[in-house]
Amino acid sequence: MDLEHFRKVLLAKEKELTGEIARLSGDARYARTAEVEDPMDQVTSDQGEATALEETSNLSDTLSQVRAALQRLHNGEYGRCVDCGREIKLARLEAVPWTPYCIDDQQKHDNQRRVNTPSL
Ligand SMILES: [Zn+2]
Repeated sequence: MDLEHFRKVLLAKEKELTGEIARLSGDARYARTAEVEDPMDQVTSDQGEATALEETSNLSDTLSQVRAALQRLHNGEYGRCVDCGREIKLARLEAVPWTPYCIDDQQKHDNQRRVNTPSL
């Protein structure tokens, strides 16, 4: 496995997510301070803020997974399922490089709670 490739992908993703979270946090602040006169605009503004905050929370979850994956890479544990220890298929890692689970365990976790990682 080309670990250097995954390290680069993960670092790029970490940077992208960090920037996106900063941008959305800025947007949320802006929405709160924006001058709103029309009651309908007020509703739209509140919804926009809620969406931005929810999106930020989703991005934060992914960022945690990306950082955990970088840690596993550092420890030489990258590419193994954190639940069962089996190797995660390369195609799955290419699609979701920060995934901590093999497809079987991913499905188990998906059934337990809603997650943002696509099932591949
Ligand atoms: Zn597994």
